[in-house]
Amino acid sequence: MSADTPQYCFKFRTYQRRFKQPLQTSHGSWEMREGIILSLRDNDGKVGWGEIAPLPWFGSETLEEAYNFCDRLPQKITEETIFSIPDGLSATQFGFESAWEGRGERGREGERARILNSTHHTPHTTIQYSALLPTGAAALQAWESLWERGYRTFKWKIGVAAIAQELKWVEELMSLLPAGAKLRLDANGGLNWEEARSWLEVCDRSQRSQVEFLEQPLAVDRFEAMLELSRLYSTTLALDESVAAIAQLEECYQQGWRGVFVVKPCIAGSVKSLRRFCQQHEVDLVFSSVFESKIGRQAALRLATELSQSDRALGFGIDCWFDDDDLF
Ligand code: MG
Repeated sequence: MSADTPQYCFKFRTYQRRFKQPLQTSHGSWEMREGIILSLRDNDGKVGWGEIAPLPWFGSETLEEAYNFCDRLPQKITEETIFSIPDGLSATQFGFESAWEGRGERGREGERARILNSTHHTPHTTIQYSALLPTGAAALQAWESLWERGYRTFKWKIGVAAIAQELKWVEELMSLLPAGAKLRLDANGGLNWEEARSWLEVCDRSQRSQVEFLEQPLAVDRFEAMLELSRLYSTTLALDESVAAIAQLEECYQQGWRGVFVVKPCIAGSVKSLRRFCQQHEVDLVFSSVFESKIGRQAALRLATELSQSDRALGFGIDCWFDDDDLF
């Protein structure tokens, strides 16, 4: 290392954040968000904050793997360390690169506050968020207060209860939603072929085209079948679990996917690589949260506003899932 190689003073700590109510998905019940907050301070005293928010059932490393990586690092690190984190540690790559990019950002506090606090479309902001509805029948009531707060796009997890029941609920939900509302249905890969077809028939029949897209109907290993579904139905399909990391995003694109790609920046991996992919291809992206804290959220939203090529709502409408507190 030469004498003028920039060095960064590295610190980290873990955090835990309990959901107000456990989040039910087809992966099971999730009660506690755990992650790591890190900081990098350069020789000029400029500090950048980053967050490692793993989602192991989505293909990222575990919190333990991320922790062990951080724990083995010396107190002072170089860019070589930051940009050579292995692809297997995708959430860690994001945490370090976003901290590095965000050094000395204090001057942009106003812009930050606007991004973090805006929930709906006003003349002063072009950012719209999609709100996550509670799973099951609770969605039939919950949309209303979210609508009053300005949300126009709603996301609902499916593949959790019996399909006949869920299909009745979704038809009821669609009949209740006002004109202009959009619904995203997220199966988290939990449907089989026949179930996916039943859902898509209901979506295609929707009079007012309320279903914006059906997300990850089938498991990750059924890419060809999802491609086939996208040809059979007019409802747009989105890939999420299938494109958790940037390498998968590239692969699905190369294999012909032209529907929506859901990108969760906090677990997608290297910020540089994601930026390169988005600049090289015309892709329909929806940026989405992994229930990270404000630190990861800010970095993810910064990327989303930079890289988004459509006016689709961002999947960050999750504030009602946690109590407010200082750090988050
Ligand atoms: Mg999803």
